[in-house]
Amino acid sequence: MNRSIKNSGGQIASAIVFPMLIVVMTSVAGIFGLMNWSARLSDESAEESQHKLVGGALQLTQNYIAKQQTGVVIWDEAFRAVKDPAANDRWIRDNMMNWLASNHGFSKSVLFDADFGVASVFSQDDDSDWMTKGLIEEMAPAIAKARARYITSFQPTPSGLFRFVPQGETNHHSIAETGIVSLLGEPHLFTAAAVVPQIQTVFSDREAPAVLVSLIPFRGQKLNNISDMSRLQGFVLAQDQNDRHGVGTYALQSPRGKDIGVIAWQASRPGTQMLQRINPFLAVAAFLIAAVVIAVTLFTREMTKRLARSEAKAVHAARHDALSGLPNRSSFQALLTKILDEGEQNGTNTAVVYIDLDHFKDINDTLGHSAGDEVIVGVASRLKQVLPSNGIVARISGDEFAMVLSDCENDEWLEYILDQVQDEIARPVKIGRREIFASLSMGAAIAPRDGKNPDELLRKADIALYDAKANGRNRRSFFEPTMEQHVQSKDEMSRELRLALKNDQLDLAYQPQSDTDAKKIVSVEALARWTKEDGTVVPPSQFIPVAEETGLIDDLGIWVLNKACARAHDWPGVVVSVNVSPNQFRHPRFVEKVMAILAANDLPPQRLEIEVTESVFAGRDDSVLKALRRLKSLGIKVALDDFGSGYSSLSYLRRFPFDTLKIDRDFVSDMNGNPEAEAIIVSIIQLGKALGMTIVAEGIETIDQIRFLQVHDCHRMQGYFISRPLTSVALSQFLHDFHNENNEQFAENLQHQAKRAEASSAG
Ligand code: C2E
Ligand code: CA
Ligand code: CA
Repeated sequence: MNRSIKNSGGQIASAIVFPMLIVVMTSVAGIFGLMNWSARLSDESAEESQHKLVGGALQLTQNYIAKQQTGVVIWDEAFRAVKDPAANDRWIRDNMMNWLASNHGFSKSVLFDADFGVASVFSQDDDSDWMTKGLIEEMAPAIAKARARYITSFQPTPSGLFRFVPQGETNHHSIAETGIVSLLGEPHLFTAAAVVPQIQTVFSDREAPAVLVSLIPFRGQKLNNISDMSRLQGFVLAQDQNDRHGVGTYALQSPRGKDIGVIAWQASRPGTQMLQRINPFLAVAAFLIAAVVIAVTLFTREMTKRLARSEAKAVHAARHDALSGLPNRSSFQALLTKILDEGEQNGTNTAVVYIDLDHFKDINDTLGHSAGDEVIVGVASRLKQVLPSNGIVARISGDEFAMVLSDCENDEWLEYILDQVQDEIARPVKIGRREIFASLSMGAAIAPRDGKNPDELLRKADIALYDAKANGRNRRSFFEPTMEQHVQSKDEMSRELRLALKNDQLDLAYQPQSDTDAKKIVSVEALARWTKEDGTVVPPSQFIPVAEETGLIDDLGIWVLNKACARAHDWPGVVVSVNVSPNQFRHPRFVEKVMAILAANDLPPQRLEIEVTESVFAGRDDSVLKALRRLKSLGIKVALDDFGSGYSSLSYLRRFPFDTLKIDRDFVSDMNGNPEAEAIIVSIIQLGKALGMTIVAEGIETIDQIRFLQVHDCHRMQGYFISRPLTSVALSQFLHDFHNENNEQFAENLQHQAKRAEASSAG
């Protein structure tokens, strides 16, 4: 059970904690991913705009050098000079190329004639080997564009001529092509423009232009300009592409697409920067979240463990009786159902046994509830001890227990087990310094013989228990179908009893009490009898408790007293004993009623004896004792009945001056050869005598019992050996025969009488 609860605790933990863990972890991972992604995006867009910035700055620089060149290419004199470059080489070099070099830093220039041939070459350093075919090849697309632009600037006139319309000076693009080339291993910006006249000029035909190409090294001021314009840090011109992290690059290419070098700079990466700034916080947050998750996990686990523990406790408490620790009624039902199912599958018998502690009410009433509790605990532990391993014992209610035994071989086996139970319980229970003798009654039903379903078996075991109790204490019965007819519900019984009382269907039997010393019948005990109309006899052990419970006992008691007193006249000199329940004394006018009955029947109080059990001492209120004192003071005899049966204490004998002490029949029957029981009986006799009481032994069934008692100075006896309870008519006959036969051999006489009385027995 515990393990399953732990498992369910674990399940709860995994059902709550693991999904939570996954959600939290994916959330954290998601946040990290998103941050990284957006950082990358922002880095990328920053890089793109830096790239554009550099490109724009480079374009502006190129535009600027193109504009610087216009001064020498849009010039009438130059236009005329380049028509014949060979002749004007000096002029061209001085006025155009050198001027560009000294005024604007174009360190090199080259003029291409109309046929795309190299016409003039200039270098500030006076070298000429820089001009190579390869270089021309690299710049060729730009030069071709500049030539084409020149040619398309001619507009045909109506007269069949062509007018050259120079593009506005502001529109550099229209006149110059710029670019970048590698020259002697160094990047150079260049600008190429056709040499054109300053004013509109009319030509007879479109003719190809001479193109001036001017180069300026891409370094120093030029590079600084771009760096300033783009406002980027760590700006350098590098030889080749290199993909270092955190470095922005702009590739420089010739018009032919040849790599010239790269502009590199310290890239600003705002996303990465943001990440770097945020990361510590994120790490702390992630750490905190992890800590919280771990804490929550541990907490949840602890809570589920605790929950499981308290659940286990609650389950145990719900299934067990708090006092005895045994399973309770509801869990017994469940266990029984399970065991019955198993028995049915295995084809074995299952015994269900109801157990009821005898006189438990008396223990509670006389010794108090804590003593009662101790007895329950003691009995419970003993039941557990003697129970075979295939059995279960449960506490059903107050003093009721139940057992279920699987694999019940047969009735004999069960008898044997129940014997052991009874023996075990018979050992005295120690409560404080007092020893209490407990006994129990048991009723058994066996599946499948007596039924298959739990309710039916329990009911039948209960019927058997009822039967056991009806036959006296410390007994057991196995269910038999005939028992069922005798058992009635309490409600039904009390209703029928009320009717029986009203319709005068009750009767009294009288059991003689002999004085073996005087060889006389000195007294008779009146015992209530109920035979129903259908002939079933209900024993007083069944209907008296019902009458007590339902309050019918008042009317019933008065009826018994009346009847007994009325009959007493038939047996002069014989005392009539009447049993009175403690409840009857609670009636405030009980004593008055008794007096009235005696008066109505004209019977002297000395002829009536009232029998009470020691339960009159129960409870704090001593109204019962007060009533008894009044009865006694009026001359009525008072007897203490069933002494030694329950939890008698010799000290009771001092609390009220009983006239008679009746030793319980169980004690008498225990006596046979049992030295302990014999010793107790002897001491009761001695103590009673010392207190001036008459001692009566009940339940005399053998001559040995009579002999033993006589030896120990007890001569008053009642029991089947003397006579069973008799009808009033039979009693009259019995008294007549008994006293008239005057037999010297008393014992034989008794035996003879007993046999004769059997025929007219009343119970
Ligand atoms: P009790 O007062 O102890 O009555 C004696 C019982 O023992 C009677 O049972 C009687 O039949 C039985 N008995 C007598 N001699 C022997 C014997 O030798 N061996 C055995 N085994 N039994 C013997 P009964 O008549 O069944 O009465 C049972 C109990 O019912 C009585 O026990 C008494 O407590 C109660 N009772 C009977 N009539 C009345 C009544 O009118 N009022 C009240 N309050 N209780 C009554
Ligand atoms: Ca009695
Ligand atoms: Ca008795």
